[in-house]
Amino acid sequence: MADSKIWANSGDSHLVEPPNLFADLPSDIAERMPKSEKFDGYEIITVDGQQFRREMMTRSDGKPANSDPLAGNTARPEDSSAEELRDRIIGANDSQRRLVDCDNEGVWAEVIYPSLGIWAFNIKTPKVASACAQAMNDWAIDFQKQSPRYVCTASVPLVDVADTVAEIKRAAALGFMAIFLPVQPPIGRPDWNDAEWDPMWDAMEQNAMVVAYHIGTEPHDPTKRTGVYYRGRGGAVLNYNETTFGGQRAVAKMIGAGVFDRNPSLKVLVSEGGATWGPFLADRLDEGYRQHGAGVRPKLKRLPSEYIYENIYASFQHDKSAVKACTAMGWQNVMWGSDYPHFEGTFGHTQETLHELFDGVDEKASHRIRIGAFQELFPAVPLPPVND
Ligand code: MN
Repeated sequence: MADSKIWANSGDSHLVEPPNLFADLPSDIAERMPKSEKFDGYEIITVDGQQFRREMMTRSDGKPANSDPLAGNTARPEDSSAEELRDRIIGANDSQRRLVDCDNEGVWAEVIYPSLGIWAFNIKTPKVASACAQAMNDWAIDFQKQSPRYVCTASVPLVDVADTVAEIKRAAALGFMAIFLPVQPPIGRPDWNDAEWDPMWDAMEQNAMVVAYHIGTEPHDPTKRTGVYYRGRGGAVLNYNETTFGGQRAVAKMIGAGVFDRNPSLKVLVSEGGATWGPFLADRLDEGYRQHGAGVRPKLKRLPSEYIYENIYASFQHDKSAVKACTAMGWQNVMWGSDYPHFEGTFGHTQETLHELFDGVDEKASHRIRIGAFQELFPAVPLPPVND
């Protein structure tokens, strides 16, 4: 059995939008869409009339990467090259080449996130934010239709909640099954525990949309490189570690605000943030709810942990402890994810990883983590072949 092919659904995959995405929009809208221009040693990003200058990453040979933004990318394993990432992205954006990659790796269906979001969330003008989300979604739904194995997540404008609700309804009608949210709202908007978002949660529930948070999507500060919190000793691993917590905070805010009291059938997926945090967070929230009960508002209909165990799902890639979150700690909503085509993921060694994770694991639990939890969120997606 050790050599047999294991199939798994992925709760965490990605697409990169093509550069001509906004070409067909009216010019007064198109000119406000996120746009990058590269100069010698720096990049100017223009979004909705705002200009952000950021220093370019340097290449491995120390020269500025003015012609190739990937050349200095060090967020990759030591034995890889930045060019590999670019090649993977090109492959992943071709709907048929992508299926070949998936088949080779043993990845069946995928939750697929957009890439433009981080910049799109800097748009301040409501009608521009709506036009941007619509263009991204019109493109993503065409991609999704290329295979029943693709579950693309829809983007939503977050400047005005009425526009958010309108795009959720439009996305549902187009055939989307999930809505992508950043782990924190855009700068200047109320936090996820604020009542202003209640119509958004209502619309998600009424339209059976899964709330899909991807970690590392905190609002972009244009004066800094995204996700760089630490420099110097340990910087790379500290910055990676920092991405872990945003999804947990988003979930805690929803539970604390009583979102699941009002929307009990709402399901949330936190992608790429590991899995053992679920039982941990459930314990912490219950303790706070009980031991600081005198100050707890609102009172909830159920314990925070019950919402984590029933409404919240999480995907992990390599974590050795993740399977135990399901088998030993009893959280049934643990889901595997490939993070294809990113370097944090398992592309190129997926079968090795799946064997390491699941060989010797009880078949029911293995099936639940590889296939069942995903299937529960997206019942319309066909089942994978039986393992060879
Ligand atoms: Mn990912």
